Amino acid sequence: MHNKGKIYVIGLGPGSREHMSKRALDAILDSEVVIGYKTYIHLIKDLLDEKEVIDSGMKKEVERCNLTIDKALEGKRVCIISSGDAGVYGMAGIMLEVKYERNADVEIEIIPGITAASAAASVLGAPMMHDFAVISLSDLLTDWKLIKKRIECAAKGDFIIALYNPKSKGRVYQIEEAREIIMKYKEKDTPVGIVRNAKRDGEEVIITDLENMLKYNIDMLTVVIIGNSKTYVKNGKMITPRGYQL
Ligand code: SAH
Repeated sequence: MHNKGKIYVIGLGPGSREHMSKRALDAILDSEVVIGYKTYIHLIKDLLDEKEVIDSGMKKEVERCNLTIDKALEGKRVCIISSGDAGVYGMAGIMLEVKYERNADVEIEIIPGITAASAAASVLGAPMMHDFAVISLSDLLTDWKLIKKRIECAAKGDFIIALYNPKSKGRVYQIEEAREIIMKYKEKDTPVGIVRNAKRDGEEVIITDLENMLKYNIDMLTVVIIGNSKTYVKNGKMITPRGYQL
């Protein structure tokens, strides 16, 4: 029988090995080819002996997926890696889209990982105990108008808001506008958690509030979690009550 190969779409989790799932680890070990952005390849470099490793730059997602399918059609077991969860601003969606676009007869297994918001929340305490919205501030693929509308709706709905891709060197005003929109609906002393490198080397944690959040360093290695109207800070932990009577 012709061996069709297999594709694993892997979320590595936030970065440290203890926070990677066993299934993700097994899939990497089982793979003959590993494909991904070089920062993520670097996180697992000790696992890559004897494997074909293909790292590629940031803007080549479709190319990366096509290559993954080509390799699998040759009969190889291939993994394509994202950080966090591959289904949250990661490679899972585009991988399936490319597979169906090409009508490629290959098996794809998507392996979930701990997403940045969960990792950051655990570091901050328990800020996401109630309904939350995850919003990426990157307007590379999404219209800024639509992003602003979603921020507005989430703030109006009193959702806890986790902001991904909050600010890069060339993209600085979005976090400022996002905060302004949110301030229309949330009090200025609403707790805000800023976590850089959650659950990996170089972890930094700040708990502040909406009024002061822009005084701190926010970049592309950071996730920002803004509480709801019930969120409070106690003993350095950010807590959003679920509603239990104490
Ligand atoms: N698939 C990833 C998200 C990719 S988008 C996931 O599920 O986590 C990239 C953004 O995720 C970054 O700009 C940052 O906002 C956030 N991020 C990813 N890992 C992080 C970490 N360990 N600590 C803080 N933020 C992180």
